[in-house]
Amino acid sequence: MNIILLGPPGAGKGTQARHLVETRGMIQLSTGDMLREARNSGTEMGKKVAAIMDAGKLVTDEIVIGLIEERLTTEKGAGFIFDGFPRTLAQADALGALLAKLGQSLHTVIEMRVDDEALVKRITGRFTCGDCGEVYHDETKPTAEPGKCDNCGGTNMVRRADDNEDSLRTRLMEYYKKTSPLIGYYYAKGDLRPVNGLADIKEVRASIAAILG
Ligand code: ADP
Ligand code: ADP
Ligand code: ZN
Repeated sequence: MNIILLGPPGAGKGTQARHLVETRGMIQLSTGDMLREARNSGTEMGKKVAAIMDAGKLVTDEIVIGLIEERLTTEKGAGFIFDGFPRTLAQADALGALLAKLGQSLHTVIEMRVDDEALVKRITGRFTCGDCGEVYHDETKPTAEPGKCDNCGGTNMVRRADDNEDSLRTRLMEYYKKTSPLIGYYYAKGDLRPVNGLADIKEVRASIAAILG
């Protein structure tokens, strides 16, 4: 079962994807994580995308489609969760073609609906464990002990350079201009299932579980 988690920055895609990985053995494919890895390991591509990411603009379709293609053809599990991909109509078309080539299809596109005001709070309070990738929030999902990961005990907490209000404003505009047309695109295909992303983390989990069965 291959699914897309579609929603603006801060909607809770990564949080829900991690849970699906743990409970269903699915594979999370986050182009944001892949791009950050490329930056951290200092590859040529990583250097090329750094400034674009910090400004909150989208990197080119060619780069992210290449990243996804590589992972799709090498990883195997109980289905893929596309998190933060596709973000443009060209990426959506490319994903359809890649899956068809592999004899696979999309099961569901889950649209996570959250309003802009909540997104600002989500993004400005977000931090993650640099060791295991667990996602936290200053108010809605703090660690049990300050500075220590509940999941792995690590103490290397990181905040993203682009998680500030200025960059978020650009990211939101990129979302409305280039990504939100995908809502209509998948609705027309009959694949779209909206969930209320404003509910608390456990409720969102339950709504997604009800859809996936
Ligand atoms: P995305 O991957 O869509 O950008 P994240 O999963 O990283 O979003 O979540 C953004 C921030 O909001 C994180 O700090 C996370 O802990 C928090 N968060 C996620 N889902 C919820 C929710 N349903 N209610 C409150 N806070 C949430
Ligand atoms: P978010 O918290 O906005 O969901 P991501 O981690 O998904 O953040 O993405 C961070 C940045 O990486 C984006 O602002 C963009 O610059 C780049 N990026 C990630 N995925 C894509 C994609 N599919 N297409 C273009 N750019 C992407
Ligand atoms: Zn951790």
